[in-house]
This record gives sequence, C-alpha cells and structure tokens, in this order.
Amino acid sequence: MRLSGPRAIACLALVFRSKVVTPAEMESHRLYLGRLYNSRDELVDEVLAVVMRGPRSYTGEDVVEVHCHGGAQVQRSTLDLFLESGAKMAAPGEFTQRAFLNGRLDLAQAEAVIEVIRARSERASRVAVDQLDGRLSREIYRFSGQIKDALALLEAHIDFPDDEVGELDLLALIDPLRLVAGQMCTLAESFDIGRVLREGISVLILGRPNVGKSSLMNAILGEARAIVTEVAGTTRDTLEEQLVMAGFPVRLIDAAGVRDTDDLVEREGVRRAREKASSADLVLMVVDGSVPLHDEDLLAFELCRPDKTLLVINKSDQAQCCDTSRLERFKSRVAVSAKYGQGLAVLGDAIVRHLTNDSSLADNEGVVVTERRHRDALLSALVALDEFFASAGSLAPRECLAMDLREALGALGQITGETTPDEILDQIFSRFCIGK
Ligand code: GDP
Repeated sequence: MRLSGPRAIACLALVFRSKVVTPAEMESHRLYLGRLYNSRDELVDEVLAVVMRGPRSYTGEDVVEVHCHGGAQVQRSTLDLFLESGAKMAAPGEFTQRAFLNGRLDLAQAEAVIEVIRARSERASRVAVDQLDGRLSREIYRFSGQIKDALALLEAHIDFPDDEVGELDLLALIDPLRLVAGQMCTLAESFDIGRVLREGISVLILGRPNVGKSSLMNAILGEARAIVTEVAGTTRDTLEEQLVMAGFPVRLIDAAGVRDTDDLVEREGVRRAREKASSADLVLMVVDGSVPLHDEDLLAFELCRPDKTLLVINKSDQAQCCDTSRLERFKSRVAVSAKYGQGLAVLGDAIVRHLTNDSSLADNEGVVVTERRHRDALLSALVALDEFFASAGSLAPRECLAMDLREALGALGQITGETTPDEILDQIFSRFCIGK
C-alpha cells in the first residue's frame, strides 16, 4: 500500500505501532517491522513500513509504503484503515502525475512508465527503460537547445538591430539547424520500429481450408491452442496468439479459410481475412504440398503482397505434387510438415529474417520513438523548421523567422511536457493503472 503527500506520515502514525519508533521518528528509506491497528484497537496485520521523505521519493512528496500480507481481505482492511485515517484513493497514474508535476520526471519519462509495464518483449522493454532513464528526453533537449541558441541570436538582432551585435549571418544560423532537422527526421522515422515494439508484428497465417493452418499455428506455438479438425471450413474465427521472435513481440493470427462461399459465417471470415492480409506485417501463405494447387489457393494468393508474404508448403511428409511454379512471384518459400514438426526451425529463421531484413526493423541502438504523440510533435516541429528555412531563403522579416523557431520549440516541448496542454496531460495519465 502506498501513500503520497504531506499527510502521508501522519496517516501512518494513526494506524501503525512499532516497538522501536513512531513514524515521525523513522529514518527515511528504512523498513520497520510493526503492526496495524484499527480505531477499535483491533490488530489488522503485521507489516513492514517504510517512510521516504520528499523530495527523495518517487513523487517528490513524503511517501509511505506498507508491506502487508497479500491476501485480498487483509489488503482490503489495510486500505480501509488508511481511508479512515484521512487518505483518499489515488486516481489512475496519479503517483506518476505527481512525480511529473513535482519535476521528478519529464513527460516522456512519465509515459515510459506505462511502456515499461506493458512491454511484451525484451527489446520493447529495453527501449522503454531507456526512455524512462531520459534517453529520448535528452535527445529532445539537445534539439531544443540548438533551436534556442539560434532563436537567441535572432532575437538579439531583432531587439538591437543597429547595435554592436554585428551583421546577422543567416547561413551560420541555418546550417546547424539543418543538421538538427535531419536528426529530428531520423528520430521521427524510428516510430516504425517503435510501433512494432509496442504493438507487436502481426503475422497472419492464410490459406484455403485444410491446408494445415491451425496445425501450423499449433506447431509454431508448440501447444494445441487452435482446434485441429478433419472437416474443411471449420476454422471460422480468427485466433490470435502472442509470442516473441528475435526480440519482437509477435501476434500470430490464424485467419478463417479463404474461399468463395455462400456460407455467410464464412463469408464474414473471408472478408476479415482479406482485411487482415492487407494490414498484416507478414503473411504466411500456406499451401498443401501433397495435392495439386487449387483455384482456392490462387484466390488466397490474390490477397497477398509478394514482398510481405512467405510461402509455406505444408505436408512435406507426404509425396509432393504441388506445382508451385505458378507462384513464382512469391520468392520466399519454406517446406514444412506442421503435423510432424519438420522444417519449423527453417520457417522460424525465415520469419525472423523477413522481420529484421526490413531495414527499419534491424537492431538499432539509437533512440526510438514509441509514442505516436511524440512522432507527431516531431513532425510539427519539422514543419515549423521547414517554414523557417523557406522564410530565411526568401529574406522574410526576422520576426517571422523567430516565430517559426518558437513554434518548433513549442512542438518539441510537448514531448517533454513543458508546453503540453492540461487536457492532454489528463488523457495521458488516465491511461495508467491505479497505483502507478
Ligand atoms: P486448416 O483448415 O488449414 O486450419 O487445416 P488443419 O490444421 O485443420 O489441418 C487439416 C488436416 O490436415 C488435418 O487432418 C491435419 O491433421 C492435416 N495436416 C496438417 N498438417 C499436416 C502435415 O504437415 N502433414 C500431414 N500429413 N497432415 C497434415
């Protein structure tokens, strides 16, 4: 149980008794054993309590943590105890919001807290932890620092046009800003990786009924999640599973069988498969290698983009009579037997190669933008800088140039929270869970 605020220690004093100290006397950041009592002097639990005096605490305020036993009833009683002693329930993200308002974290760092909690792969978590550590913020401060320098120079010339500040050397102003704009652009583009790290890569398993899609999904997952059947057309719903490949969270989706059908339930499934195929990062197009290609196979292929498709020739354990030369457009192909687990390692490699060959996804040690909000702010700042470059080229009044730079600074400040409107702040922190 965690309390934050100027009355946190007083609240603890009302309910906590230790043989050695009162909460007011507790050394900061040190655990003390004691007992919680309610107003009727009944023992509620034996606990460990720690006082963290501000500003050396997560929120920057006095913080108290009570480590009680984990049972639901004990927790409820402990919570009631503190509510009776004058504490109020925290709103979602309120601890982090207070940390932000008290200057313990900037906004990008505060947002990283959610990402750290939600990260579904090692790489995603590394990016989030880096952001929490201030890596993205430092980059943004570096950009705004350079823009501020240029703005200061420009403003000096606006304020003291005829003074000893000398002629304004526009080129000397523009060149470093062009460099910064290039770096901002690269950072904005890193959102492609950031999005994938956050949302995962979607891999769709597609193919006509009975080619072995569910079997393949199971084989990849190594567990019988999808229902494997002998009857064509029974995998009607899309099934989705999460796994990690090469550090990326992957969503593996088994689409409904693709074929022309009058069955409405299936037609809906086919429609969804079509939709999913166009939005998937990679399609595993499965054909049955033990039978000749079918018109329905070709129908399924029509849904796929060759560069985003890996052809999986299944049932390699049987005599092969599938003439895949008609599928020449699909260069990447792997033969597997989903049923007997053959070729799965090669398939795994091919998937990972596909994911990481996409150069934007290759292991990149630079700073990565994972929030759409941050990417959009970077793009707005870039638009303002472009205006600046255009105005500078057309010898526009210096006030206009200064305005463009201020606009770029305002956009960057939204990332770190200096210029973020309150309603956006509320929206950001409401995405947190209670207690964070
Ligand atoms: P789906 O309709 O595409 O999802 O296909 P299923 O995974 O339900 O498989 C259809 C049938 O093909 C089942 O009888 C599976 O046992 C069989 N099957 C799937 N993969 C293989 C394989 O690699 N080899 C053989 N021999 N049979 C397979």
